[in-house]
Amino acid sequence: MTNDYNTDRSHERERLVAQIEREGIRDPAVLDALRQVPREAFVPPKLHAAAYHDSALPIGREQTISQPFIVALMTAKLELESTDRVLEIGAGSGYAAAVLAVIAQEVYTVERDRELAEMARQRLQALGFSNVHVLHADGTRGWPEHAPYQAISVTAGGPDVPQSLSEQLAIGGRLVMPVGRDLSQQQLIRVRRIAEDDYRQEKLGDVRFVPLVGVAGWDGQERVK
Ligand code: SAH
Repeated sequence: MTNDYNTDRSHERERLVAQIEREGIRDPAVLDALRQVPREAFVPPKLHAAAYHDSALPIGREQTISQPFIVALMTAKLELESTDRVLEIGAGSGYAAAVLAVIAQEVYTVERDRELAEMARQRLQALGFSNVHVLHADGTRGWPEHAPYQAISVTAGGPDVPQSLSEQLAIGGRLVMPVGRDLSQQQLIRVRRIAEDDYRQEKLGDVRFVPLVGVAGWDGQERVK
């Protein structure tokens, strides 16, 4: 099989970014970050040609790299500043972490699947994203050592916002997460921590994510398939 890793896909990338902009993501920092991250480097070689379709794609281990529009939407809703420390739960391929890392100062990303965590770590290092740190662990516990975070992005759907994540959010911080009673269908929500004990929640729309599996997520036994 030919490996087209060296094919220049910058035109396809530019076309996708223009499409995402037309669909309503106007934040220049987010659009610029999408232009800077080569999505093809985060998918298996046989899917390189599909890397700039606006769809989720399989990355192995029954997991997916999120649809680019959703990555753009979540990133925009986090309202990132260049000095922010960001926590991501669900590193998966590492793509969304790379997008976050173009805008923010440091990105801490947690992945429960050992193989995916290791692949994401190697890939991000090879691409020069030295401000992304990958931990293999259950992300429903957060990553307390680097808390508080000005922004938290959860890229798998759970029944509720895990309490550890609420606690690790800085005052003034934003958390975006798919929440739903159903294993595969959720409402994307944003939580703002206004003060020590004051959290405000908004709904951002219906989404479909793979399940968040962990102590404060779905029980491993309930997993579909
Ligand atoms: N952000 C990823 C999308 C990953 S899909 C990307 O850009 O490619 C969701 C990921 O969440 C999967 O890799 C899955 O293994 C992981 N996941 C599910 N439950 C988790 C948990 N409790 N802690 C950390 N990662 C989890």
